[in-house]
Amino acid sequence: MWTRSVAPPRRILALALAPVAAFGIVVAAPAAGADVDPLAPPPCTTDIRALPITEFTDHRELGNELQRIAAVSEGRLTVSEIGRTNQDREIWSASVGTGEAVVLLNAEIHGNEKVGPDAILRVLENLATSADPRVAAMLDRITVVAVPKLNADGAELDRRGNDRTWADVVAEFPQLAPAPPAWNYIQRVQQGDDYVNRPGFDLNRDFHADLDYVPDPADLPGTGAEFGFFINPESQALRDLYVGLAEQYGGVDAFLDIHHQGACVARDDTGELIDVAVDYPPLPEWEFEEGGKYAGYENSQDSSRQLAISAWNGIEAAGYVPVRYGHAPERDLPGQARSAFALNGTRTVLFEIRGQTQTLGQAGRERFTRATVAGIERMLLDVSTGAVDRIDPRSYENLADSVQAEPGGGTDQDADQDADID
Ligand SMILES: [Zn+2]
Repeated sequence: MWTRSVAPPRRILALALAPVAAFGIVVAAPAAGADVDPLAPPPCTTDIRALPITEFTDHRELGNELQRIAAVSEGRLTVSEIGRTNQDREIWSASVGTGEAVVLLNAEIHGNEKVGPDAILRVLENLATSADPRVAAMLDRITVVAVPKLNADGAELDRRGNDRTWADVVAEFPQLAPAPPAWNYIQRVQQGDDYVNRPGFDLNRDFHADLDYVPDPADLPGTGAEFGFFINPESQALRDLYVGLAEQYGGVDAFLDIHHQGACVARDDTGELIDVAVDYPPLPEWEFEEGGKYAGYENSQDSSRQLAISAWNGIEAAGYVPVRYGHAPERDLPGQARSAFALNGTRTVLFEIRGQTQTLGQAGRERFTRATVAGIERMLLDVSTGAVDRIDPRSYENLADSVQAEPGGGTDQDADQDADID
């Protein structure tokens, strides 16, 4: 593809030579020292540990990086603030390209899923600075808009949820005062993070297919099988960006949401630990039929499968390990961003990179970043040429499926693959 080759980062090698203090804890250096391969797949572990994450791009660094890329892009890339988080951090978006087809990229809606921002920065820099005429031709046909770190507050806390209380919600929406908190309000210990003393919301359950929905106390607390409520400034910002693009361009052609899943996921055919799983929206097919709850909405399931296959092809061609994300036919999560946008006619794909920070820390960062970039770049190319429309969506079922791997090796065919963490 047209990505420049990137040398293994020196920082990872330096890290391997000395113990690193993180969160006040001294973490043992990898035993192999300078021989550690930054592109080797990190091991499967389910232990929650305090591992370093300083290699990843934090909120301040993201702002600096976007401004730097804009400066060297000679006007090709522009940066905008699309809103503020609940703790008043900027939510950045960047745009590159002049084409009619709009591809929207989103990452770190869950703040402990950190490869996405790094991968998006790399894609943006390639698009904004490449001298390759193929890139220029592509950017005549597509416009890429990216939100690299939607949940900047959760990202700073290195946790899934944002940093917002129910009282904050009621202050914004006084009509909700008599209602119970939304079901996606986290007030317990989850993934080792204390939401008892510092609650927050799972933002990827806060979306509604009716993009002008106004929170109604009668709809609360809701469930995972119902739409969300747009009660968080971060989800509102992404919604408003989507609506604006749809008005400006006559629709958003594609949406990618980049996540991480558990650290112990393998391919069901080869048993290899995976790099990136791909998925289409969790909306049961029968609900689009007459009388079904999605009958009045757009059905983007097949066009989403086409784009997922495109991403798979890019990941596999680059030498990484893709897999199909566990997806039971009855899986129904309409409050996810990708579901709400798909119901508005946008083909949407989910990436699920292996391992969240509470188990892997920054291990595998470079490998997973390259795998993710390869998937994104193929998708952009296939959207720009129209090749994505010639992919047979039925071939999705032929892709290797996910299976749970055992931390000690081997796979467990009976494990619950639907960990519900996307
Ligand atoms: Zn996630």
